Amino acid sequence: MNSTEHDPNCIFCKIVAKQIPSRPVHEDAQVYAFHDINPWAPVHFLLIPKAHIPSLAQVTDAHAPLMAHMMALIPRLALQEGCNPYPQGGYRVVTNTGSEGGQEVHHLHFHIMGGSRPWLRG
Ligand code: AMP
Ligand code: ZN
Repeated sequence: MNSTEHDPNCIFCKIVAKQIPSRPVHEDAQVYAFHDINPWAPVHFLLIPKAHIPSLAQVTDAHAPLMAHMMALIPRLALQEGCNPYPQGGYRVVTNTGSEGGQEVHHLHFHIMGGSRPWLRG
């Protein structure tokens, strides 16, 4: 499967559609960011495209504007959510891809984790 606008069986598509509640961090026409339900770090939110792209494995050159938008948002949202400034602070950006990559939810997402150490994991 490649990218479709909405997969009715996908939990993150349901979050985008507000069929499942979430705590918003940012929303615009292309993307949604919300707090992870099971945070590993003082700051832990997820940034997802609104369109259903299963994983990084399906990303192509056609997604370049979307990916650029997401990458440019990450530093802005990280500071907004309380990550400490680079270089003493910073944050970790993780995209698990496929079963061997530890991906549990098959809708592309970036984990953004930060805040003072120690963290629960990661
Ligand atoms: P991954 O293992 O990379 O697929 O990560 C999936 C992430 O989604 C995990 O960190 C979960 O805690 C998070 N998650 C699952 N369901 C929800 C939800 N309903 N609201 C917020 N985060 C969720
Ligand atoms: Zn989805």
